[in-house]
Amino acid sequence: MSQLTTIEKLEILADAAKYDASCASSGTAKKSSLGGPKGRGGIGSTEGMGICHAYAPDGRCISLLKVLLTNHCIFDCHYCINRKSSNVRRARFTPQEVADLTLSFYRRNYIEGLFLSSGIIKSSNHTMEQLIEAARILREEHDFRGYIHLKTIPEADPELVHQAGLYADRVSINVELPTDAGLTRLAPDKNARQIEGAMKGVKSSIIEAKDAKKHFKHAPRFAPAGQSTQMIVGADSANDADIVGKASVLYGSFGLRRVYYSAFSPIPDASAVLPLKRPPLIREHRLYQSDWLMRFYGYSSGEVMAATGADGMLPLDIDPKLAWALKFRETFPLDVNRAPREMLLRVPGLGVTAVNRIIAARRHRVLRLEDIGKLTVSIAKVRPFICALDWRPTALTDRADLRKMLAPKQEQLELFAA
Ligand code: SF4
Repeated sequence: MSQLTTIEKLEILADAAKYDASCASSGTAKKSSLGGPKGRGGIGSTEGMGICHAYAPDGRCISLLKVLLTNHCIFDCHYCINRKSSNVRRARFTPQEVADLTLSFYRRNYIEGLFLSSGIIKSSNHTMEQLIEAARILREEHDFRGYIHLKTIPEADPELVHQAGLYADRVSINVELPTDAGLTRLAPDKNARQIEGAMKGVKSSIIEAKDAKKHFKHAPRFAPAGQSTQMIVGADSANDADIVGKASVLYGSFGLRRVYYSAFSPIPDASAVLPLKRPPLIREHRLYQSDWLMRFYGYSSGEVMAATGADGMLPLDIDPKLAWALKFRETFPLDVNRAPREMLLRVPGLGVTAVNRIIAARRHRVLRLEDIGKLTVSIAKVRPFICALDWRPTALTDRADLRKMLAPKQEQLELFAA
């Protein structure tokens, strides 16, 4: 096989990395800047190899070089394009090549950091050592202060996982599938207990490092941006209630910063045990909304699960907060001039900012419906669930056709489902 150039390797390994959802812009629509008018290329292409966006701990959106060290893998996870039985072009960077690429992109101002993952070569420990070496070269030999997100291999020695956290801002260990049965069936080389054990180790190291920092100014940092994970949606028979339950356990037990949901997409040469069709993208979106409800709106996982139907699935035509409100109509209407903050957060159409503004404004005056209208995109969605000085929704929440009244029009749904 002829030697691949760096660009050819980058093409293969950046493309192979795009299936990891841990970067916020992974699903962006492609626009090519090739073939612009008069033979000149256009600008603003989102097709560039390996650049993705993520959010730094301080909330800034940063661009990262998102790449695999290699797409060779000795494991055979059915859903993965890089599995050993997959017929794809393979490539491999050395840790030095990854470090050089990162630095040259960084110096050109293309990126502010690196997202590095890998297929498993030789063994989990060997792969982990290679990932750590790339980060070490950047941090120790070049004093690289940019953001580094390292995927860690749960089967690797805990000491190696720990070393990764000493160089990285964020580490992530993919839980892959929501149920143990799904993992056993679709990722036979992986083990749910091992994955959880690695997450537990990372959690302890993060806590210890934070604690040490309080007492010793120069205590080493350990993954200051925390740990995250990814769950594949729609590759197995797990329903949304299973996924929400699993996410809640992960947040509670391992202090994860984020659980990412990645709608399974059929891959070339797919294994026969996988579904032929991808789940609707709107399902992934509804799961992110339910995740938001648990993290920022005070819903318990049980409450989010209560918004699912008899099949354990969240409705696709309405968001989970509206689904919950329609199911528990007896909770409403809520008086915007008296209801506590945690209850106002349950009103469909009122976000955290709107609720904070309501709380601030009602200290000075009694609020009318018009005041609420100025704080929300759709007062029609809010109206059935609140009372204000001049508004009482007589029997609105009892209407049988309330769901129909509030569900977005079908054309809007198609935008999401594209
Ligand atoms: S371990 Fe599994 S998911 Fe990871 S690269 Fe290998 S085949 Fe893919």
